[in-house]
This record gives sequence, C-alpha cells and structure tokens, in this order.
Amino acid sequence: MVAFQMTGLFRPIANFVRGAIVAGAASALCLAQTAIAAAQSSSVPIVRDAEIEALVTDYATPIIKTAGLSRNAIRIVLVNNNSFNAFVDGRRIFINTGALLQAQTPNEIIGVLAHETGHLAGGHEFKLREQLAAAKTLAVVTSLLGIGAVVGGAAGGASGLSKAGMGVAMGGPEAAMRNLLNYQRSEEMAADRSAITYLANTGQSAKGMLTTFERFSNALALTGTSVDPYRISHPMPRERIANLEVLAHASPYYDKPDSPALQQRHDMMRGKIAAYTGGGASVLQTFRKDPRNIGARYGDAIATYLNGSSQSALSKIDVLIKEQPKNPYFQEIRGEILLKQNKASDAAKAFQKANALDPRKSSLIRMSYGRALMLSGTPDNLKASIKEIKAGIASDREYPSGYGYLAQAYAQTGDMVRSDLASAEQKYYSGKIQDAQIFAIRAQRGLKNGTPEWIQAQDIINAKRK
Ligand SMILES: [Zn+2]
Repeated sequence: MVAFQMTGLFRPIANFVRGAIVAGAASALCLAQTAIAAAQSSSVPIVRDAEIEALVTDYATPIIKTAGLSRNAIRIVLVNNNSFNAFVDGRRIFINTGALLQAQTPNEIIGVLAHETGHLAGGHEFKLREQLAAAKTLAVVTSLLGIGAVVGGAAGGASGLSKAGMGVAMGGPEAAMRNLLNYQRSEEMAADRSAITYLANTGQSAKGMLTTFERFSNALALTGTSVDPYRISHPMPRERIANLEVLAHASPYYDKPDSPALQQRHDMMRGKIAAYTGGGASVLQTFRKDPRNIGARYGDAIATYLNGSSQSALSKIDVLIKEQPKNPYFQEIRGEILLKQNKASDAAKAFQKANALDPRKSSLIRMSYGRALMLSGTPDNLKASIKEIKAGIASDREYPSGYGYLAQAYAQTGDMVRSDLASAEQKYYSGKIQDAQIFAIRAQRGLKNGTPEWIQAQDIINAKRK
C-alpha cells in the first residue's frame, strides 16, 4: 500500500524533495537554541500513506477553502514523529503522526489545522522568518552567555564576576526576546481568531481546538518530561485560553460532534499509526477503553502482519473487508500482505480493487498496483505495470519509491536505458545527487540527443553541478 510505504512501510524519507522539506521558521518559533538550529538545517522525515493523506486532506479542505486559499496550492505533509506538532511553511501544512495518534477526535485535528491555516492565511510565517533572523543571533548569544555564567557561577561560588556575566545575558538580548515574544503572542491570537471564523463558517465546533490547547496549557506545569514542539512554538498563556474559551462557546456549533463516519475513519487512522509506530502494544494502549473499536481491530491486523504472521493477518483483514467491502485501504493492506506471501497476482487483484474503490485515485495505490503486476512477471503484466507506475508518478513526481518500481519493471523488460533513467530519478529524490548523476550519465549514453528523456537525464546532471 505504500501504507506508510515500503515493505517495512513507515520509512522516513529524508531530503524528500530537492532538500525542500526543511522545517520552516514557524515550527521553531521558540527561543531555544536547539530548535532554531533544527529549523535551519534539519530535514523532516516524511510518511506517505494513501489513507492518512486522504483523511487529513478531508479535514483540511473546507478550512482552506473558507480561508480563501486555493486548495490545490496547499499541500499536506505527514511527518514521521511521535511528538505532537503541526506547522506551516510556505504553502504546506506539516502534521506529525504523533499529533494524529494523540488526538481522540477529528475535531481536535481540524481545530489545529484551522489554527495553522490562520497562520498561513495571515502570511505569518514570512514575517516571522524576518523576526526570527534578527533574533536568532541574539538567542544564540544569550544562550551561550547564560550557560557560561552558570558554569562560572558554579565554579567560582557565584562570584561577582559571574553575576556580572549573568547580567549581560539577561540585559540587551532580553529586550529583543521580549519584542519577539510580543510579536508572537499577537500572531497566535490572530490565528486563533481566524480559526474560530473558519470553523464557524464551515459549521464545525471549536471544542477540539480548545481541548488540544488546554491540554498544552496544563502541560506547562509539568517539567522534566519530553516537551512537545507544538507547546514551545505555541505558548498557551492562561489569558489566551480564556479568550479562546469565550469565542469557542459563542459558536452555535460548539456542541456539534464529528459525524460517526468521520470518527470511524479517525479511529482507523489511529489504529494504523499505532501499529506502524509501536506495534500491537501501542494498538492496545491506544484503544484500551474500547478494544472492540474497528480502529483497534484494524491496528491489530496491521500489527499482526508487521509481526510476520501474514496468514493470521489476512484472516483478520478479511473479517474487516466483510464489514466494509467498499473500503479501499483494507484492500490495499490485503495486497501488501499477499505480496509478503509472494502471491503477486492475487496482490495485483487486491490493489486493482483498492484503486477502483479509492475515490481519490491515490498515486500510491496505483503504483502499488503497478508493482504487484511487475512482480507477477508475465510479459502482458509487465507492460501494464509500466503504464500504472508511470501514471502514479505523473501525479506524484517526487516520490522516490515510484521510480524504484519503474526501474525494476524496465529492467525486467530488458530496457536498461530507461531503467537507469528511473534509477537516476529515484536517487535524485532520495537526496543522493551523486548516485543520481552516475545513473543519469549512463542512461544518457543510450538516449537520442535532445529528446525529452535525454533532457530529463541532463537536468539531473546539471542539478549536481549546482
Ligand atoms: Zn500558532
């Protein structure tokens, strides 16, 4: 399924797009030096999964629309991280799998997405970046001086000198920090207000947003435990929560619950994430109050499969398919399990069904279908395989595994030139530019000068030089 992708699915993809998936400033609008460094340099591990992408897109779409942003211009990116976080960066909304797992209802995630969309619509992250750039140096200096003063204080028994050092640390930079904090506070309030408007416009409750933010507000009392990044980037002072409470309660939709169908999809997503990130134990833990929930049983089936008991997993999935014969993702995981059993033809049938049932026609399912066709090996299937994989790539150009499948399929037909070209793309989108170039040069030797494929190879060779 490329459910969380790959055979060991849930594989994080570093440098997913030309190094473009780099955490944006808004994610690290905190004064901690480490977080700033992270925002500057680290890439974010990405998860691809047709089911979760579809669900989060369904959560976000009405909000994005009512915010006046173009739906197609905004991309949802799932981040493989157990902590709670969500942030915006240009035209993308990033959300951690940890946030999706922790949120008990769709409305909690929708509220967070509404708040983040408020930042996006307000152009906050761009302004923030400027503020952050100015403050960054100061933050580092403060932090270094602060540490130095503490060390000095410990060694010298809080001598006058180290006290002076502390004074420097808390002086000039402190004022700059305060400016930044004030600025951040006004942006948070603005995003809250926007979120409330978006939720009201779309007939949804703000209760979930309030629940989430209240949780973070209370969590501030805790120390020493791991800190969710969202809490750092979104300070939740009591006055902000109080404000939000009044606004949320004023909405006529405050007590409107999520639809049972949406709640069920949310539960199934949680079961899946729990299975992929923590196995059967995490599924049990997630659904300890409701062990017969369909999300629990779905998670159990996936955990069983990941555990290597594919026959048992297949029986469990088949029970679920009987309950929901039109669920494309049950068919998708069924295909994955069958592939694990080396039943490629049966797997292809399952993926084909998944693709037919999938209202979004996810490129991920389509590529899995193509891959299963390829693995089944007959000449006719190989031809169909290349067609399906290419169709998947056409709407998902930066997904490395798709090119990997294509390279394999071409190699099986004996077309090593196109296989090399596909391998070049795979390496390229995996961030391995040097390897990509080796494949591109080799492919180019077999291609006619100036053809689209020759140019495709040349682009990769040129990118290397840059
Ligand atoms: Zn915010």
